[in-house]
Amino acid sequence: MTVTLPSVSEKHRVRLQPLELPERLLLGPGPSNAHPAVLEAISRPPIGHLDPKFLELMTEVQGLLRYIWQTDNRLTIPVSGTGSAAMEATIANSVEPGDVVLVGVMGYFGNRLVDMAGRYGADVRTIHKPWGDVFSLAELRQALEEHRPQILALVHAETSTGAEQPLAGVGDLCREFDCLLLIDTVTSLGAVPTLLDEWGVDLAYSCSQKGLSCPPGVSPFTMGPRAEEKLARRKGKVANWYLDMSLLNQYWGSDRVYHHTAPVNMNFGIREALRLIADEGIETVWKRHRDNAEYLWAGLEDLGLTCHVPVENRLPTLTTVRIPEGVDGKAVSRQLLDEHGIEMGGGLGELAGKVWRIGLMGYNSRRENVDRLLSILADVLPRS
Ligand SMILES: *Cc1c(COP(=O)(O)O)cnc(C)c1O
Repeated sequence: MTVTLPSVSEKHRVRLQPLELPERLLLGPGPSNAHPAVLEAISRPPIGHLDPKFLELMTEVQGLLRYIWQTDNRLTIPVSGTGSAAMEATIANSVEPGDVVLVGVMGYFGNRLVDMAGRYGADVRTIHKPWGDVFSLAELRQALEEHRPQILALVHAETSTGAEQPLAGVGDLCREFDCLLLIDTVTSLGAVPTLLDEWGVDLAYSCSQKGLSCPPGVSPFTMGPRAEEKLARRKGKVANWYLDMSLLNQYWGSDRVYHHTAPVNMNFGIREALRLIADEGIETVWKRHRDNAEYLWAGLEDLGLTCHVPVENRLPTLTTVRIPEGVDGKAVSRQLLDEHGIEMGGGLGELAGKVWRIGLMGYNSRRENVDRLLSILADVLPRS
């Protein structure tokens, strides 16, 4: 049988050369460079997402995530999507319409939590800190007393400011006020200590492309027993089919029922990324990030530059550096990218035009990268 295929218009035809990319050292707020072994894992031929080998891999990834997050949470999975998808998963599964959700806003990502919680029908309350600052336990207590929320949401590592929110004691406080603790660990997981169970965290999320040395695409999510109970008790369905943990639980739990096709190659990648961290040992990984950050801070100071965040709240993964008076911050970033292939971030929101953001995350947290950046900055910046 001969079938005549329809003729097509050439109007939309595009002819391109095979993909070519410049080499980049990504020292901005993310993505960070992926580890070569992770890229190698991702390039393997896919297998079926219900293949027994893949099911085994899913279990391995869950175990590795529990290790680096330091949690026993049964419901710990990589969400298919970027960090924002995992963020939305925590909100969608915990917020019921009318719930009071208190968000501690100390930067850009706190505002994203506010936006998301509002979309799921929460009665959103906020407390604020200037960008670069963090909340004290006393301030959190006072806000819990005033607002009596069902959920307190905080950003552990505010990538927009470079500040680390201390979390010791916050979970106990939340239990006292019978509220769940939800935290953003996108720029801390696999780089800065995240002691979820010790801190009493009920819901947390992260991403693959910052501390984990994997490209963006799958994002860790975890939910503890108190959050699971709230999910089981809810009156209506989770208002997001894709991220509904009562459904995803059947895929990632013991039933292994098809929900959606997991991005298998990205799961190869995150397995390798997490395996490398577990091999190095999570405490060694935390120490490496801390040491390289301190080395960077000392070098910046030697160049006459000032870090925006006081050292006691400064995040090892992301450093905000004040742009000196009279220096065109954007032009310096552009020169670094064009002439040296190095990406640095600019300021957001309150810090727009005021700081550069330097990331040392995962595979990129190495002394040689700090040396390279510092020597270029020394050349590019005017001598003071
Ligand atoms: C990067 C980031 C996100 C968002 O993650 P995406 O992967 O960009 O969706 C959320 N929170 C924080 C603190 C981040 O740094």
